[in-house]
Amino acid sequence: MAIEPTRRRTQTPLAITVVGAGILGLWQALTLSRAGYAVRLIEKSATPFTGSASRFAGAMLAPGCESETDPAIRHMGARGLALWRAVYPHLINAGSLVVAAARDSAEATRFARATDPPQTLDARGIAALEPDLAERFPRGFFFPDEAHMETPHALSFLLDAVRLAGATVELGAAWVAPSASDIVIDCRGMAAAHELPDLRGVRGERLVVRTNEIHLARPVRLLHPRHPLYVVPWGDGQLLVGATVIESEDTGAITVRSALELLGTAFALHPAFGEAEIIDTGAGVRPAFPDNMPRIEIRDGGARIFVNGAHRNGFLLAPVLAEAVADHIANQTLHPLLVTSERLAHDGHSV
Ligand SMILES: Cc1cc2nc3c(=O)[nH]c(=O)nc-3n(C[C@H](O)[C@H](O)[C@H](O)COP(=O)(O)OP(=O)(O)OC[C@H]3O[C@@H](n4cnc5c(N)ncnc54)[C@H](O)[C@@H]3O)c2cc1C
Repeated sequence: MAIEPTRRRTQTPLAITVVGAGILGLWQALTLSRAGYAVRLIEKSATPFTGSASRFAGAMLAPGCESETDPAIRHMGARGLALWRAVYPHLINAGSLVVAAARDSAEATRFARATDPPQTLDARGIAALEPDLAERFPRGFFFPDEAHMETPHALSFLLDAVRLAGATVELGAAWVAPSASDIVIDCRGMAAAHELPDLRGVRGERLVVRTNEIHLARPVRLLHPRHPLYVVPWGDGQLLVGATVIESEDTGAITVRSALELLGTAFALHPAFGEAEIIDTGAGVRPAFPDNMPRIEIRDGGARIFVNGAHRNGFLLAPVLAEAVADHIANQTLHPLLVTSERLAHDGHSV
């Protein structure tokens, strides 16, 4: 990546304001500070992450599993994984395991067709990877090159890394246009919806439980035609159980229906979930565009850049989006996820 972080004539660094310290804003601020720009990261919440969707994420980096919805995620996600590995030493590189009950074999077949898993497992193969799931599922799939993290730790680590890279971080400061910066990178998530007419919210609810009875080394996804589920191990007996995917922008607490569905399916994964303590619940709203892929939208000749719509893959694709923005600022390169307002207008979007 060739970066030209200074104005050619004056040699002073370009001033860039990044708005929003969710996962997209953190990666933008980190990448651009490390590239030599003068970066200011502004976040509305006084306590970091409390206003973000990012804090509710399962934070799995799963390009293979997520290619189920769009094959483009596999290729871009591989780059996202590589960039995470270069920055975050606490990433847990244990892959992803996907299992299906015997009665859901049609679901397993559909998933395998869509994702082309690197390894198909029988019950013995599942037990070798996750002994606590021995003899529970006849068929599974293993994606060895996937990773996960403990969400709160990863977010705090990135915020520290942004400061260490030289950026100014302002918390409890709601940004309002205009700005004195050369470039504003808008990563406000759902708060930017009034300026991005086709952005919508997709509600995701999740619980965190604690038990010493279930030991998993990696995220486990249970395929199900109505209530698919994943469990992400966080260490110290904590497991994140998620997540609903509901076309709603409601930010309220998890509903009884969703809690029953998630916990019922977790109980089907392993009956020891019945004795686990529920230590946290929450719901976040994923920002999404109609194609469920993120978008970098260039406005005002490059002075305003929106980065938004990461839907289910904000953690996976945040580094890719940051790299694409840095390349665009330095070299005017056009990443496939990057659009100009002229192009959007040409395609019939209101801008
Ligand atoms: C339950 C759940 C599970 C998920 N699991 C995964 C997963 O396993 N893997 C994955 O890759 N992705 C996952 N996601 C998706 C991912 O979390 C989202 O794509 C991502 O959080 C979107 O990040 P963002 O930075 O765009 O928005 P946000 O995280 O919402 O950040 C926006 C920030 O902007 C701030 N802000 C708003 N207005 C202003 C203003 N005027 N001035 C300053 N700051 C402002 C807000 O306070 C907020 O902090 C999951 C999401 C959910 C809800």
